Amino acid sequence: MKLAINGGTPVRKDLFPAYQTIGAEEKAAVNRVLSSGTLSKFLGCWDPDFYGGTEVQALEREWAEYFGVRHAIAVNSCTSGLYCAVGSLGIEPGDEIIVSPYTMSASTTAALIYGAIPVFADVEPEHFCLSVESVRRCLSERTRAIIAVDLFGQPYDADGINALANEHNISVIEDAAQAPGAHYRGHPTGTLGDVGVFSLNYHKHIHTGEGGVVTTDDGEIAEKVRLIRNHAEAVIGDKGSTDLVNMVGFNYRMTELEAAIGRCQLQKLEDLLVGRIANCVRISQALADVPAIVPSLPREDSRHVYYVQAMRFLSAKAGVGRDVFLDAVRAELAPSRNRESEGPLVFGGYVAPLYLLPMYQKRIAFGSRGYPFNLARKEVSYARGSCPITEQLHFQELFYHDLIHPNLSDGDLDDVVDAFQKVWRYRAEIR
Ligand SMILES: *Cc1c(COP(=O)(O)O)cnc(C)c1O
Repeated sequence: MKLAINGGTPVRKDLFPAYQTIGAEEKAAVNRVLSSGTLSKFLGCWDPDFYGGTEVQALEREWAEYFGVRHAIAVNSCTSGLYCAVGSLGIEPGDEIIVSPYTMSASTTAALIYGAIPVFADVEPEHFCLSVESVRRCLSERTRAIIAVDLFGQPYDADGINALANEHNISVIEDAAQAPGAHYRGHPTGTLGDVGVFSLNYHKHIHTGEGGVVTTDDGEIAEKVRLIRNHAEAVIGDKGSTDLVNMVGFNYRMTELEAAIGRCQLQKLEDLLVGRIANCVRISQALADVPAIVPSLPREDSRHVYYVQAMRFLSAKAGVGRDVFLDAVRAELAPSRNRESEGPLVFGGYVAPLYLLPMYQKRIAFGSRGYPFNLARKEVSYARGSCPITEQLHFQELFYHDLIHPNLSDGDLDDVVDAFQKVWRYRAEIR
């Protein structure tokens, strides 16, 4: 049999269905808001409307209840939420925040916004989240916080990371953008650290177009997040607050439209996750006899919610490199509806290790003179090789695919499996 990359017939020619979660409920909710004429109700001064309108406040109550957390604060993105979280902890210029290099860039930029120095710790080879041992080696007298990411839907090692944080009296911010509805030892992600942040952008499990939610049990953190969200500097005088640290505000407000959609989406979350998890289990079981492919399993006593399905490819066992293998798999598959330009949704690596971005390599962020990197200890390095496991995963082993969502049929999933199996069986053709 000839592989499609060599001119053979591909396993799949028709587009895969799109991930579509928006239905009659969201349309009715949006119409309800449109009919009211009030598309947002925030006022950026000390007034009852400082906390937003009825939909925003309802989403916040429902989100807090769903995740079993005291406070949920709706914002216009997870990026904004991360900025609020760092600001709320009183982080100062020159403070250090330990971060993962293997995540979306905003998880580490949040440190820079407040002049803090991101210090990159390496990740776990099998779960891809921050490695406790590596975080321990990155601690210094300047460390003030750790930003732990639940990467690809896998909860971070909360027992290990939180114990380190307690021991050193520093805070944990949990970036749960990719893991709504995951659990770690009975605790929902987003509530594992001192403050959690979710994303509601279009690519996430549930979405409002753009949006985010910050969660915390700490009333003081929650109130600071609300202030930073909505022009803190113009509010705190009349509010009677005296703490001025980081009380420079932004406009990170969510509209009533997004909040109304978010309330509907939250109700659908569990069903969407159940379908997605079942699809991932089906695919990893069907690929279990391919020795070169190692799926990422849930952490012990935890629930992984598979933002994407990440796996490792061991080229030594295949006799062919990851990227050559994946090119052949992609040739067997078709794109997905609404994402045609990306081609088949199978990708080698994730984002390049963040310290390799020009901003870190050149140490230029705000202004041309190197702020805030000019405040860093000289030991803080962004050199290539800083996080060897991340580099090995990214450049050699890790791949992920996005053909797991619950709008896919069993037949669609079988095509995905068949593509991998076919390339595995006939890999001599691409050696
Ligand atoms: C998507 C994502 C973000 C940013 O979310 P936005 O809502 O787009 O700002 C942050 N961190 C991680 C890990 C993400 O996947």
